[in-house]
Amino acid sequence: MVLTKLKEIRDSQERRPRVSRDTLLRFVETRLQGSQLTPSKAELLEVLNSRVSSCTKCPHLARSRTQTVFGVGNPDAELMFVGEAPGADEDARGEPFVGRAGQLLTRIIKTMGLSRADVYIANVLKCRPDMPKGVSGNRPPTAEEMQTCISYLLEQVTIIQPRVIVALGATAVEGLLGVRRTMRELRGRWHSFNDVPLMITYHPSYLLRNQMLSEKRKVWEDMLAVLEQLEKPISERQRKYFLSPND
Ligand code: URA
Repeated sequence: MVLTKLKEIRDSQERRPRVSRDTLLRFVETRLQGSQLTPSKAELLEVLNSRVSSCTKCPHLARSRTQTVFGVGNPDAELMFVGEAPGADEDARGEPFVGRAGQLLTRIIKTMGLSRADVYIANVLKCRPDMPKGVSGNRPPTAEEMQTCISYLLEQVTIIQPRVIVALGATAVEGLLGVRRTMRELRGRWHSFNDVPLMITYHPSYLLRNQMLSEKRKVWEDMLAVLEQLEKPISERQRKYFLSPND
């Protein structure tokens, strides 16, 4: 519908309007919000995604990225997962959490009785943090990069209105809450982001580095608390996961 509206505006002009794509999208967004046509969450996300995809607020990241990585999943999700930033795999695919850590996140979501299509997955930073030429691997985003980008995540949360957000790792928490703390200080209690209950747990890449059952159980306990908050049924089998070495 948004694209149809944009085409209508373009076709109604004899000469092309001399405004930027950004201004045009903001105009359409305001018009949609002000009219009786209530845009769906998917449409609002689509408009926001268009703004993000042309963002140059961090010129060094705009230069180095293959594409922005906006977010994926159900626009009506009750549960939203937030990581720190795309890595090389995500930058190539344009989708968050598709590399090794992402595959583990997908397994965690499935163990909760959900699928990636049920939840919404995004990062604080929408661009892959740049690396020196010829250097492989990923680096964490800086506090400044996250501060510059956080308004987009805030808009995503405002549109989706999830009932619970899960922050993955201390860097994502720094981006969300502006505090730099250890996971030991942050875990085990509810926080809030934009009035949405926020659960903080380890980043899946931590679990890939540290395969101890005790660490898997900590993440699982956080996910059980999330399921309880969402009033989802929890089986006896689910309650006991990662308590014995057979899991
Ligand atoms: N790590 C993150 O924090 N986000 C991704 O999208 C992938 C890995």
